[in-house]
Amino acid sequence: MPTTEENFMRAPAPTAKRTLYTDAMEIFHRAGDLIGLDKRIRLELEQPDYEHMFYVTVKLRDRLVPLSEEATKPFSDLPVTKVRDPAGLELLADGKIILNGRALLGSDVVIRSGHLRLPSGGVYQLVPGENERFKAYRVQHNQARGPYKGGIRYHREVSLDLFKALAAEMTWKTAIAEVPFGGAKGGIQLDPRQYGREELQAVTLRFMYKLKSLIGPNLDIPAPDVGTNSEIMALMYRQFTDGERERHKMRGIVTGKDVRIGGSEGRTKATGQGVVYCIEDYFSEKSESIRGKTFTLQGFGNVGSASAEILGSMGARLLAVNDADGTIYNGDGVDVPSLLAYVHENPKNLKRSVLGFPGAQTISKKDFWEVPADILLPAALGGEVTAEIAEKIKVKLIAEGANGPTTPEADRVLAKRGIDLIPDIICNAGGVTVSYYEWIQNKRMERWSEAEVNKKLEHAMKRNYRIIRDVARGTARKTEMHDSRPFCIGRPVDTRCAAMVLALKRIAAHYQLEGFSQ
Ligand code: NAD
Repeated sequence: MPTTEENFMRAPAPTAKRTLYTDAMEIFHRAGDLIGLDKRIRLELEQPDYEHMFYVTVKLRDRLVPLSEEATKPFSDLPVTKVRDPAGLELLADGKIILNGRALLGSDVVIRSGHLRLPSGGVYQLVPGENERFKAYRVQHNQARGPYKGGIRYHREVSLDLFKALAAEMTWKTAIAEVPFGGAKGGIQLDPRQYGREELQAVTLRFMYKLKSLIGPNLDIPAPDVGTNSEIMALMYRQFTDGERERHKMRGIVTGKDVRIGGSEGRTKATGQGVVYCIEDYFSEKSESIRGKTFTLQGFGNVGSASAEILGSMGARLLAVNDADGTIYNGDGVDVPSLLAYVHENPKNLKRSVLGFPGAQTISKKDFWEVPADILLPAALGGEVTAEIAEKIKVKLIAEGANGPTTPEADRVLAKRGIDLIPDIICNAGGVTVSYYEWIQNKRMERWSEAEVNKKLEHAMKRNYRIIRDVARGTARKTEMHDSRPFCIGRPVDTRCAAMVLALKRIAAHYQLEGFSQ
């Protein structure tokens, strides 16, 4: 029987250019080799069905850009400009101010060489709004099992390569979650924290205007991801359905909507809830519970904060949180409800960061990785857990809330060090699972309670996670909850590979039974 080391032998050919996509597909090829995946099916899955790249242009608002202390000196005698409508001044996370509506209209505006002083005392340069062009993407990876499905990301660092990797992950994830969808992903290259609310609305509407010919409630269904939320989904929904005769029938064009406009109860927390169901099942198999366990968390956005809230309510202790702006630590445990209020409800916390939280001390990102805990929960971006970090971490379990947080090299180190892993394609599948429930409710014009949603979600997550663990151990069995017999391959494999085996066997069945049209 091959050793764990041998399980990791397959790597991209040395001459092949290494990209995020080739890295992400390494596990696909490894699992494909193990199950003897048919060559034609492999080719169908090896590259996305469609890769769309396009631009959206939007006219930005006028901005006030703060001057440095030094640059302010020549304007020491500049009179204060009276603000007519303070609500029209929108402060951004980078200190710039967007001018909305009639904020500065009138005769009380004193501008000198393009500069003005606000009542706060600060001097700002007035920068007229220009037209800006943003690069947008939608990768549709595979639809063998159903309509393309995947999130919309607004982030500075996105690329076609990244969206290809994320879209493929969705193909595997929807198969593992057993929801009748394929995989897709897309978004826009922009940092949403640098744009005003109305600018983001304009970008989103324009994005959907261009996307409309590519997607549909039975064709490709977007959802929130990093940098987007239910507000963005509401705009996308409106733009897609505006003027349609039977627009209510198209509610399922996006998921992750607000419950008041056709969203599902439990969707906002679904990904975090799914992460916790997996962690709970992992410990219950060892006759242990979440109570008393410690965890560290990277990312305090949708997935990170929901996971922390639920784990905290179950008696786990959050020791450290790292996000895009810094890291906090409290060895006695961070008070999660206070941290949630500090990050998400404090209007002064424009960056929505954990940094500066009064109930913890600041530590470096380097130290964050070395905090000893039972669980590390990466819930931010991909590629964060590198081989170097994997050598240092002092945890027993990594639960991948984020997509692709662990590099292939780090996987090898974790296996060598005996650190357990709940792979992303099962761990964070709660989001797409409840997205499916939302889509079904929209189709049937129904509304399910949160208890009903979570009951179904718990069953789906634990059932499929148990199949994956059986495949990993090579112990085929049938219980009241699950049947792993069709998926086990007669030998043990690492958990990430086991998850991929499950995905590929479910996807391959479609090609095997339906055949190929000519
Ligand atoms: P989000 O935008 O709500 O939050 C992202 C968080 O990551 C923020 O706290 C941000 O500060 C932090 N972050 C960003 N860059 C960072 C960096 N360089 N270092 C440390 N922290 C950083 O996003 P989200 O929806 O919570 O998604 C987080 C992850 O979970 C992503 O990988 C996403 O693809 C994945 N995911 C999300 C969902 C969902 O339903 N939202 C579902 C499945 C998977």
